[in-house]
Amino acid sequence: MVIAETFTSIQGEGMLAGIPSFFIRTSGCNLRCAWCDTPYTSWQPEGERHRVRELLTAASAAGLRHVVVTGGEPLLQREIGELTHALASNGHHITVETAGTVAPEFACHLLSVSPKTSNSDPEGRFHERHRDLRAKLAPLQRLLVRHAEHQLKFVVQGAGDVGEILVLVRRLGVARERVLLMPEGRSAEEVAARAPAVARLCLDHGFRYTPRLHLDLFGNRRGV
Ligand code: SF4
Repeated sequence: MVIAETFTSIQGEGMLAGIPSFFIRTSGCNLRCAWCDTPYTSWQPEGERHRVRELLTAASAAGLRHVVVTGGEPLLQREIGELTHALASNGHHITVETAGTVAPEFACHLLSVSPKTSNSDPEGRFHERHRDLRAKLAPLQRLLVRHAEHQLKFVVQGAGDVGEILVLVRRLGVARERVLLMPEGRSAEEVAARAPAVARLCLDHGFRYTPRLHLDLFGNRRGV
């Protein structure tokens, strides 16, 4: 598998925010979000090949039950099924974080899907491909049916995003308490500036608010 980095940290986002976890970040993504906070896995992908057994050894050595498989887009990795089933067999709790544009078979205890809205559309040569791929219903539906324990996480810039979110949530039939809104921003300051407006949207529509604890705790750095 092509891996950008592995590290231990506090899960910063979503229903399991606050839990110490071992992160496996794959490299490579089929999207190109304008505000991508891990461009070293998408716009300028970096990384090295690792065998599944090397990743299992690293996860065991970390000594944490929770493992987060993230990216980039981890579901593009051919070995995603092998890795997640092996981690589960070793007793780990697995969260898989994905944009949900593809739906291969894999194991997880919490599926964290982050479909992208038009606020992510980039300028330039990736624009059309990104727009066409970012919120396709078929793979999202397959993933949500297969993984009943799921959360839908949206990166929000402001009130203008909520119309698209409401439409997608209705089409997918996801309960609102499983829908999380997260302020867009690459620093704690940018996130804090958007937080009150995003919290207001949660209050108005019955969605959950999710912080980005890792930015508060460690800043915008790799490996945390
Ligand atoms: S889906 Fe994630 S990794 Fe891919 S470009 Fe968007 S933010 Fe970056």
